[in-house]
Amino acid sequence: MVIDEIYNLACPASPPHYQADPVHTVKTCVYGAIHLLELAQQCGARILQASTSEVYGDPEVSPQAEEYWGHVNPVGLRACYDEGKRCAETLFFDFHRRHGVEIRVARIFNTYGPRMQADDGRVVSNFIVQALRGEPITVYGDGLQTRSFCYVDDLIEGLVALMAGPSSVTGPVNLGNPAEITIRELADRVLMLTGASVTVDFRPLPQDDPRQRRPDIARARELLGWAPSVPLSVGLEKTVAYFRQHLLAA
Ligand code: UDP
Repeated sequence: MVIDEIYNLACPASPPHYQADPVHTVKTCVYGAIHLLELAQQCGARILQASTSEVYGDPEVSPQAEEYWGHVNPVGLRACYDEGKRCAETLFFDFHRRHGVEIRVARIFNTYGPRMQADDGRVVSNFIVQALRGEPITVYGDGLQTRSFCYVDDLIEGLVALMAGPSSVTGPVNLGNPAEITIRELADRVLMLTGASVTVDFRPLPQDDPRQRRPDIARARELLGWAPSVPLSVGLEKTVAYFRQHLLAA
């Protein structure tokens, strides 16, 4: 079998989805990585792991650089994903050191864009779908926690650049947009863009929800010449347009 490149993007990434069957999530991360690394070893293929900013857990430093080892609760509700992805990174580096497998590890920060599912459960699609349906916007906690949202096209360019880069660039490399905003501010932006006049419904903050998240992308800039180019205002507009069409058609 001839396989040149393997992208391992398998695993639900939305908290309600990866928490729905947590043991399955760990298996997907760990067994999935082992199976694909063995395949890469057999075929001499280059393999890229879609890792995550969740390896940093609820970070105590900002922005998060790749050198930061993270602050993950190993027994919490998010651990099936966080620790699963951390273990997958371990496997990638052990296969690289022990068996010479050519690896790439990308740490993906919050990503959004058209073709997300309406019931994805993550914040951007939730807010847009709620606003377009005329339902209250659900803000978890006080909404002062931050995230940094990367448009899907930028992320894909980063993944392709990492895969195509020199074999010395194994990563981990952060891929994300460093523009950080609070969740309340995101709600305001969505309300403005959709023109919806709905209320904001404050709900309890899920367990271990990170207070802040912002990528340091110096490594990706330097080693891959990559940086995101789509500002949140443009990306949100495209995502709203997608959901307008998609929800009306449904
Ligand atoms: N969030 C929210 N309302 C929602 C969905 C999410 O306020 O309807 C919050 C969530 O608590 C978190 C942030 O938005 O602080 C990002 O959540 P998401 O599930 O999109 O991604 P992650 O927590 O994995 O970064």
